[in-house]
Amino acid sequence: MNTEKLSNRLEAVTNYIPSGARVADIGSDHAYLPCYAVKKGIASFAVAGEVVEGPYQSAKKQVKMEGLENQISVRKGNGLEVISPNEVDCITIAGMGGALIASILEEGKSKLASVKRLILQPNLSAISIRSWLIDNGWELIAEQILEEDGKIYEILAAEKGEPLKPYKNTEKGLLMGPFLMEQKSAVFQNKWLGEKKNWERILLQLEKAAYSNETEKRKQELKRKIKMAEEVLMQ
Ligand code: SAM
Repeated sequence: MNTEKLSNRLEAVTNYIPSGARVADIGSDHAYLPCYAVKKGIASFAVAGEVVEGPYQSAKKQVKMEGLENQISVRKGNGLEVISPNEVDCITIAGMGGALIASILEEGKSKLASVKRLILQPNLSAISIRSWLIDNGWELIAEQILEEDGKIYEILAAEKGEPLKPYKNTEKGLLMGPFLMEQKSAVFQNKWLGEKKNWERILLQLEKAAYSNETEKRKQELKRKIKMAEEVLMQ
């Protein structure tokens, strides 16, 4: 991967950046995404935010090497603290767990007033992000699922607005994604077949364990999830 040819995963993230946007890419190891977005004319300006020294230095080096210092500001800091109020209108956060992405958004809420679009790519637990979006008045506008190098990734794009009704109150929608459930692509089916098998394996082990309230609770939860996956996959 380089700034000419991104991974399919990161390129898919850039496809949701509105043309001419001012973007902050948080967790911007190597600054590949902002460099690509600026060079392709998708973003007019970008902040590359990184909390860890090594990746921050890599991002700085990359931006300097590309001669993009006038359009990309590389900053070291935690989450959204690297951006000033009203500085950007689009935020990308990719390649982290969903719970971490949600906590970055939660802690940085005060910086979101000028932000029109969030593009989030959790490596796992997209449910944490969907829940955060609903609780904070962001509407999911698109979702994508893709497989690359044997791993499955989800991309969630959101704008300020009323959360979509169909998934607002359903665990299924929160867990699997309202758009992804609708599309039911081959990758989506593979993902949830795999999860279902995993849940069934854990359930089998728990069936052999000694009785306890905790085990019983876990078993019921697994059964509920297995049923949910079956319903969606069979539809
Ligand atoms: N976004 C790139 C991608 O998707 O390929 C890099 C993903 S890398 C696995 C995650 C990066 O996020 C790491 O460089 C890590 O240091 C950074 N990171 C983690 N938590 C962060 C936070 N709270 N604020 C800024 N960066 C963070």
